[in-house]
Amino acid sequence: MEEQNYLCVSCFQVITNPICPVCFLREVKIWLKEQSVSEKTKQKVTEELTNVLNNLAEKPADTNCILCGSRNVSLCMYCLIWKTNRIIKKYTSNKKAVENFEEIFNYNS
Ligand SMILES: [Zn+2]
Ligand SMILES: [Zn+2]
Repeated sequence: MEEQNYLCVSCFQVITNPICPVCFLREVKIWLKEQSVSEKTKQKVTEELTNVLNNLAEKPADTNCILCGSRNVSLCMYCLIWKTNRIIKKYTSNKKAVENFEEIFNYNS
């Protein structure tokens, strides 16, 4: 089987671990549940992130998700995480939650 490399539409890096927006959202929701931020914050973050990711998921792409197989991966993990991080910071100033997100999702690596 020939392996093909597809580029992220945002940063133009090769997508090495393609995760689709739907699977990514599921992971973030699981993470969010554990955080000590208000229910309102969780709701706001989930709402905005769902909007952003659903828009992405609807765009046709060439790369299959390694988790569910959907052919809708157009962004690399780094860009997904970056977008999510911005939304989280918008709704909470809870440093612990932000740091924990960056740690869990390897924002800096
Ligand atoms: Zn990217
Ligand atoms: Zn998926």
